[in-house]
Amino acid sequence: MKFYVSVDMEGIAGIALREQTMRGEPFYQEGRHLLTEEVNIVVEALVQSGATEIIVKDAHATGFNFLYDRLHPAASYVLGPVPMSNRFAGVDETFAGALLLGYHGMAGTPGAILDHTYSTADVYGLELNGAPIGEIGVDALLFGLRGVPVVFVSGDDKTCAEAERQLGTVRTYETKKGLGRHSGLLKAPRRVHEEIGDAVKEAVVRRAACKPYTIQGPYEMKVEYTSTRLADGRYCDEIDTFRADGRSVLLRDDDLLRLLSRTFG
Ligand SMILES: [Zn+2]
Repeated sequence: MKFYVSVDMEGIAGIALREQTMRGEPFYQEGRHLLTEEVNIVVEALVQSGATEIIVKDAHATGFNFLYDRLHPAASYVLGPVPMSNRFAGVDETFAGALLLGYHGMAGTPGAILDHTYSTADVYGLELNGAPIGEIGVDALLFGLRGVPVVFVSGDDKTCAEAERQLGTVRTYETKKGLGRHSGLLKAPRRVHEEIGDAVKEAVVRRAACKPYTIQGPYEMKVEYTSTRLADGRYCDEIDTFRADGRSVLLRDDDLLRLLSRTFG
């Protein structure tokens, strides 16, 4: 039984500040400790649930955030930047489920801790076939293309609500309640470390209720940038890439993976 764990940083227990998630910032080392400890607990829970192979992807920023000498030996780890088309390197149809650990609400979510969609600086929001979509939805679609269901999502309360709204049946685990972009009612990390393993084990038991996430084509992605300058930088051929308005570009495609690759590069 194989599992794939994609790990972001904003939804990890004890994290609420940009300074805890960015290399070179004063609290980043503290963030790495919290991140690595939570990853290890999840890997151990999967091992105890009967997992025979576990791949963990460091999906935050450049993909170099774990404390490597402390990682649980039972998993292998995908590090470093990869293109969207290979975002979850190593995943295939033989995986029983995917877990999205430490995720966050999409850009513009009120009361969500560190809300964004791939890039705070560049992306104001995404819409796929007319509906808003964030990282939970896009990453679930990438797993869905391989027939792999997302069985578990963790992060703040807005993250959990977004996951349930987008994916339907999925086990969520709340690490904190968001009060604003940089404020929240945090569960003590030690409490999260006591609870999250059981939540993962329950997700494994209930995985059959989760279906691979898919959206019917053809596809249309609207990318709203934070600035007209960024939209100016996209070549619009008026065939399948269009300037929708001052800040937005519209991409059309029959192939979802190609569409996502064109959106993010
Ligand atoms: Zn992140």
